[in-house]
Amino acid sequence: MKDNILTYTPRRNDRLIQCVAADGMVRVALIDGTELVREARRVHGLSRVATAALGRQLMMTAIMAADLKGEHDLVSTIIKGDGPAGSMICTGNSHIEVKGSVTNGDVELPPNEQGKLNVSGFVGHEGKLSVVSDLGLKEPYVGLCNLVSGEIAIDFANYYAASLQRPALVYLGVRERAESGEVRAAVGVFAEPLPGCPDEVIDRLQAKSGEISRFSERLDAGELPEDLLESVFGEFGLTIVGEREPLYRCDCSRERIERALLSTGRAELTGMIEEDHGAEVTCRFCDKLYQFSEEDLRALIDAATAGEDEDE
Ligand SMILES: [Zn+2]
Repeated sequence: MKDNILTYTPRRNDRLIQCVAADGMVRVALIDGTELVREARRVHGLSRVATAALGRQLMMTAIMAADLKGEHDLVSTIIKGDGPAGSMICTGNSHIEVKGSVTNGDVELPPNEQGKLNVSGFVGHEGKLSVVSDLGLKEPYVGLCNLVSGEIAIDFANYYAASLQRPALVYLGVRERAESGEVRAAVGVFAEPLPGCPDEVIDRLQAKSGEISRFSERLDAGELPEDLLESVFGEFGLTIVGEREPLYRCDCSRERIERALLSTGRAELTGMIEEDHGAEVTCRFCDKLYQFSEEDLRALIDAATAGEDEDE
């Protein structure tokens, strides 16, 4: 019986809480992303280290997505390091629906020297972090910087400092059960001084990095996100300005996959018909399988050809 109690984990709603502090000079966001990281692990069958790595990136992407203004705006973060992970991509929309994918999510690594999940060993210490903001303009805005650690939170902090000249504080933590790898708690914090913020406030903010590094432990112990925020940022005069619910959700559809197939070109599609007698496409974000028979593919080509005729 005791074991049953220990492994029982009730579902709770994820939360993204947005605040201002220091007379509006600092923005703070906290995400309790426990369920969305659990969902990413379940969908992809992620290893323990991959759960931590992709989970951290998903939470940061959700925090960034919460700032999107337009209905159809999207933000994607791409981490491509020299570790066994391969590339990691997460996308979020203005409803804070996020999805993520990692090339080699089944790779497991032994703990690092501190006995923690070896996220930087999985991601790699060298590589690139890019952020693509698609705000409905002609071209998406792309920000790019080098990885500095592979631990992800530090890499995002460096992205803000190096690419945007904004000294942000970033914490991303995923806590897992030692035995099963089940996600106990996942939490992220982002604090950013706004233009005009006094240096003294920025320095005091940066000095908080040690305290926020215990947030996943404290959330797991049952503390509420509001209390975590107040305990660290309360001295700056913290006001909660909004709360939303982030979700792991993939928006793929058969129509979208059809468009992707068509974009490979007629020669490629004909090859699929003649050589493979059909096509199977798996969505990289939710692992859903889409099957296309020879007839389906022929109908696609016909429809595309009809469209071309109309254009002429
Ligand atoms: Zn999908």
